[in-house]
Amino acid sequence: MVDIEGFLIDLDGTVYLGDTPIDGADGFFRTLEQNETPYLLLTNNSTQTPLKIANKLKSMGIRVRPEHIYTSAMATGDFLRQEYGEKRKAFVIGEEGLLESLLSINWQLVENENEAEFVIVGLDRKLTYEKLERASLAVQQGAKFIACNTDSYLPTPYGFLPGSGAIVCAIETTTGVKPKVIGKPEPIIIEEALSQLGTPKEKTAIVGDRLETDIEAGKRAGIKTILVLTGAKKEEREIKKYNPDYVFKDIGELWRDFLKQRKNLLF
Ligand SMILES: [Mg+2]
Repeated sequence: MVDIEGFLIDLDGTVYLGDTPIDGADGFFRTLEQNETPYLLLTNNSTQTPLKIANKLKSMGIRVRPEHIYTSAMATGDFLRQEYGEKRKAFVIGEEGLLESLLSINWQLVENENEAEFVIVGLDRKLTYEKLERASLAVQQGAKFIACNTDSYLPTPYGFLPGSGAIVCAIETTTGVKPKVIGKPEPIIIEEALSQLGTPKEKTAIVGDRLETDIEAGKRAGIKTILVLTGAKKEEREIKKYNPDYVFKDIGELWRDFLKQRKNLLF
């Protein structure tokens, strides 16, 4: 692995599994900090704020400051502000992370579908049929339809639960309108994260456990891709198809490789 100056690192399945940190994750972040290597933890999770995610990591012994966390909700806010400016009106299906991101760009959250210029959808575990009604009507009236991500499901120890993509599907099926999607595997979240990192594309890598989101997003955005074999199940033939630039057993093995590189550079 040569010449990587900036990292975008997936969380679930890459840094931790459930509530268990993956070996070497804490060390990798320590080394990135010591070397002042730019990095962001990149997650499709739109429900939580960076502070909450940082606290969860801390409870697992992984120290990462909230400013190093970048969610699909934050990328949605950054993208919308650049494309449409401030003070627009949005009907939102989502949780704290998304609401905070939209308020931070001075957008107004409206309850009435007739006022909405945008319908913005992330995972909402308090979803009601009424919210789906209002969102669907707003989209039919011409509101722009934006999705933080289209993750189909949330993996839990009990099985799969509906993800943001399942909610997006309800509105898409109703209206026949496809949303603009911000999160992985779409490249928008990568582009937004890159503009924060400031490292050139060819020297920036995404690290992740899912071929169809992390690796696909990296390829589409034109950055380097690093697959870790923890988290999501992958078959050899699938790995060949997506063809990541580098494959490591886990983030710990990536860490040791990165350390070796730095030493070679120093001596
Ligand atoms: Mg993952």
